[in-house]
Order: sequence, then C-alpha cells, then structure tokens
Amino acid sequence: MVITCWGSRGSIPVSGREYIKYGGDTACMEIRARSGDIIIVDAGTGIRRLGNKLTKEGIQHYNFIFTHAHWDHIMGLPFFKPLYSNQTKIKVFRCPYAGMYAEKLITRVLTPPHFPVKYSDLSAEFTYEDGCPHTFQIGSVTVVPIHLSHPNGGKGYKFIENEKAFVFLTDNELGYMHPNGLTLNDYVRFSSQADLLIHDAEFTPEEYHRYIEWGHSSYADVLKLASRAGVKKLGLFHLNQDRTDDAISSN
Ligand SMILES: [Zn+2]
Ligand SMILES: [Zn+2]
Repeated sequence: MVITCWGSRGSIPVSGREYIKYGGDTACMEIRARSGDIIIVDAGTGIRRLGNKLTKEGIQHYNFIFTHAHWDHIMGLPFFKPLYSNQTKIKVFRCPYAGMYAEKLITRVLTPPHFPVKYSDLSAEFTYEDGCPHTFQIGSVTVVPIHLSHPNGGKGYKFIENEKAFVFLTDNELGYMHPNGLTLNDYVRFSSQADLLIHDAEFTPEEYHRYIEWGHSSYADVLKLASRAGVKKLGLFHLNQDRTDDAISSN
C-alpha cells in the first residue's frame, strides 16, 4: 500500500501563510493497492488536487469509502474532475449514516441550488456495494470497518495488505462514548500492532475539557491509544482550523 494524505484539516478548510506546513484542505486519503486499485477515503476539499493528479495519470476506475456524512468529509466531491468524464467508473463501499446511504449523501451534495450540476447529470458511472458491517476486499487490500464514537455515527477502517496494517480513525472521540461508539479498549484492540495509525487529534488536553461530546479527541488520549496498541507509526489528523503551523509544532 502507498498511502497519501491530501487533506488533514478538520471542520472547514483554511489557507494562509500560517497553514503552509500542515496544509489547509479537509479530509481526503488516497491508498494505492499493490493490485493497482485506487481507494479514496473521504471527499473533503483535498480531493480536488487528488482528482487533478489522477486525471493527468489517465486513471478511470476508483473505489470510494466515506467515514461519515459531515460536511467537511464530502464538500470537495463536486470538484473531483473525474466525475465529469464518461470513462470514469466509481465503486462506492457504502454504510448508512444516521439512516442515510452514500447514494443519498452524494445526491444531496450535487443538487441545485447548492451546486448547479445534478447527480443524475454526472458523466461518471457509479455502483454501490456494502462497506459494512463486514470485512470486504478491494483488490489486494482487505478492509475492516469499525464504529466511530462521533455525533451522527461514522466508521473507521483498517486496511491490510501483505500483513501490513493501516488504521484510519478520524472524527473519533476517545474520551466519550457516543451512540454506537466503542470503548478505548475496543479501539486499542482494533489498532493493535498497526504499522500506521492515523487518528483524530483536534484538541489539546486543556481544550478538550471545554469540548467533551463534540466528537473529537485530545492528542493526549490518542498517544495513550497508540502506546497501548503498540502501533509502529502515528499520524495526527482532523487538525483544528485555528491551529497554526507554529501552534502544532510547539505542542
Ligand atoms: Zn470532520
Ligand atoms: Zn464529523
């Protein structure tokens, strides 16, 4: 697997000199499987630059996974250029979020008056398969879903290929259990011995006390998870929109 992060900012995109190092785009991950399959996790604003690159490469087949339906994870979708090519085939591995499946979620984003192009007018061909509750396969990658602890629900995923594991848990509150959420111990078990864990770390421990139940974690809780799970590498994700490069580096 080759994993690229195209956006790690949470809630809203930001730009400016104080955000150059860690970037301003919202959630979008690209995973390239050894089998050649392209897996895109979330369609935050980072998906625009990814789409431009994949278009240049002439890639036409994509697999999509959405962690949940919040705006910052889907708002970039209309700007993914391959949507407007009739050569494009997109397979969506779907889960219901607050009862809403990906078809409805995508339709809502691409609906006038929010956006001038309708989902039904897109040139790309969409197909849908179940992305939960069971483990599924995309080419050479095995994908294991897990419930997130987050308002309105969500799914985290473990991607396994050649005995290497990448665990992606964004918008997950380790300090509070939302409906369908799991315990810290459950997330420790799920992340056990992962080669790479990328986890929501929106808050400092001081801030977190003011934002309990908002659906995001303190980086101190993430460090606890990573050390108890024995992960080999850790990435911090869903960076707060007001956290500048200097503030991140000094924390
Ligand atoms: Zn988010
Ligand atoms: Zn969210």
